[in-house]
Amino acid sequence: MSDPHQRPEGRSTSRRPPGTFKVGTIAGSDVLVTSSWFLIAVLIAVWIAPTVDRVQPGLGAWKYVVGLIFAVILYGSVLLHEAAHAYAARHYGYPVGAITLHFLGGATAIEGEAKKPREEFWIAVVGPITSLVVGGIGVGLHLLGPEGLLKMAIEGLAGANLFVGLLNLVPGLPLDGGRVLKSVVWGATKSVHRGTIVAGWAGRVVAVLVLLWPFVQGRIGSLGEPDPFDYLVYVIIAMFLWGGASAAISSARMRTKLPRLVARDLARRTLAVPADLPLSEAVRRAQEAQAGSIVTVTGAGVPVGVVNEAALLATPADRRPWMATSAVTRQLDDGLTLPVDITGEDLIVAITRTPAAEYLLVESDGSVYGVLTTADVDAAFRRADN
Ligand SMILES: [Zn+2]
Repeated sequence: MSDPHQRPEGRSTSRRPPGTFKVGTIAGSDVLVTSSWFLIAVLIAVWIAPTVDRVQPGLGAWKYVVGLIFAVILYGSVLLHEAAHAYAARHYGYPVGAITLHFLGGATAIEGEAKKPREEFWIAVVGPITSLVVGGIGVGLHLLGPEGLLKMAIEGLAGANLFVGLLNLVPGLPLDGGRVLKSVVWGATKSVHRGTIVAGWAGRVVAVLVLLWPFVQGRIGSLGEPDPFDYLVYVIIAMFLWGGASAAISSARMRTKLPRLVARDLARRTLAVPADLPLSEAVRRAQEAQAGSIVTVTGAGVPVGVVNEAALLATPADRRPWMATSAVTRQLDDGLTLPVDITGEDLIVAITRTPAAEYLLVESDGSVYGVLTTADVDAAFRRADN
């Protein structure tokens, strides 16, 4: 609802995060419920039980069950909102993971960034539209003049969905309306970066307005004085919005630096040595060859390991003549060998997927080009300013 487009780091979307329960499938996505949701469902049930009792007296403890059913119906409409995001994303060919319901609403895991402003617009806007349509249907049903608990349920559903629909259209990230604003600025300026920055700053403005709202409310007599609990709620919402907006801004800034990360340019010259060569001799040869890294190879010249600089530096010089170079290497498992032409976001994804200090860079024919260190990538990232 409020943060529909979680971008998971990895590719696997089938794994279930800890503390969640699968309750079903909608629009091709698993529907997960977090344990915090059960807490909020119980709170909602307790909160509306007195109203249930007033509308339909004499239910006894059943009023809590009715309250719980209302909570489930309410989140069912949140689910429709999320299913709309998921359906639109899948329509444009983006892989969609699970829909998660949590205490603040829901979130849909969509992989990758939208490639066109039009796609971003529709994936974002269908959520609030769905909520407004559900709210509108609720208003229509209300006109039919239902009685008792049915009337209460329809009013609650209509009110909540109109509120959620309008709230999510507020044009600031991380709300859906922020994504709509981003897509509009992106379409107008042809710059996704500018779109995200504008919508991110709009989100920060919204966060500040939320923070100031209880003070305004206090001055408008008819709305009543806010109590300390109101202030707390607004502070929490403002922090949530500010955090989401800031994350969007910093990830946009990061993206502008990414194209400047080129593995080939960052490669260290490397020296190939037999795995059983004494470490001191490997270091001597590397210094002589002015190589910034050492790779161990088999007799046939196939690379098998890359020397870990930290492990090497931690080895006292007087022990190095008695140790094989392989003692301080990390075996070249999957993910530690990268194509030398890898750049930008692909490079970041690759090193995030298999975290290590050193990677072997190879040409397309398999020959060794050099070694890439995470430290060098970090330094290059810091050098690349906006
Ligand atoms: Zn949404």
